[in-house]
Amino acid sequence: MSLLSVVLPTYNEESILLKTILMLKNHLENENINYQLIFVDDGSLDGSWNLILHASGEDPHISGIHFSRNFGKEAAVFAGLAHAKGDCCAVMDCDLQHPPATLIQMFRLWEQGYEVVEGVKRNRGKESVIHRASAVLFYKIMSKATKMDMSAASDFKLLDKKAVGQLLNMPEHNTFFRAMSSWIGFKTIRVEYDVRERESGRSKWSTRSLIHYAVTNIAAYSSLPMQFVTGAGVFSFLLSLVLGAQTLIRYCRGHAVEGFTTVILLILLLGSIIMISLGIIGYYIAQIYEEIKARPRYIISKTTGL
Ligand code: UDP
Ligand code: MG
Repeated sequence: MSLLSVVLPTYNEESILLKTILMLKNHLENENINYQLIFVDDGSLDGSWNLILHASGEDPHISGIHFSRNFGKEAAVFAGLAHAKGDCCAVMDCDLQHPPATLIQMFRLWEQGYEVVEGVKRNRGKESVIHRASAVLFYKIMSKATKMDMSAASDFKLLDKKAVGQLLNMPEHNTFFRAMSSWIGFKTIRVEYDVRERESGRSKWSTRSLIHYAVTNIAAYSSLPMQFVTGAGVFSFLLSLVLGAQTLIRYCRGHAVEGFTTVILLILLLGSIIMISLGIIGYYIAQIYEEIKARPRYIISKTTGL
């Protein structure tokens, strides 16, 4: 019988963890699916790890990985995949926002021969207008950069072990699971699901961390910001042609002393274009530096049940 590994990144989820385990066990056992739950504790500060330890002691289906500190959800997903033994692996949030019923549906599709089953959001749950608008903009840029439709992408996916092997072979430090799992190709199908309200605890994403996440991924996948630098260069060159001609004509006519205001404005404009451009290039250099350091994506301090 084929084994389904479910990877659940966990960060300060003690209030919901036991309920998640119960729900998943119920659904999977009702369907007679042979399964393994891998909780990846991303350096939780609350009692999550103790709950995982306890649960894995009582139930051989449950295992856990504990990071030495918080490395972020991406790292947790990859650590889980690296330790999964299943013939297929699913990744889902452990706050029950990804419905277990959809997991079953995904597994059935895998049995029919699909190698990558992508969960796409039918709705986006409750969000503020600004949040939604920036998410739309981010996915527009990312869709363009990766040449794949990412508008409804999520981290809720089920992958065949072949696909998981390919993902784990990719050496980059800055991983972006939802884009990488589309990039590898394979026989793919999409499954729509409704994002449920978080039942307890709260979202781990602050506005700041979301902006950081967006900027890093745009820089990693797209050279669009660099094209802004080129565009700004072309713009100021054209401007310089026009203003240069005007200045020469004035000089020839003999009234060249005026125009101090123009000089100040030009210095300010060009100065800011140059500094913004340097900042953008610097950001790319920082990313390259991060990659060539080739540090591990995560550090595991403890495991249980593996
Ligand atoms: N998570 C994690 N490390 C982090 C932040 C979040 O492993 O640094 C986990 C979290 O426990 C949850 C999933 O990633 O299982 C999604 O996080 P959250 O629900 O906060 O995000 P949202 O659903 O609001 O996008
Ligand atoms: Mg959530």
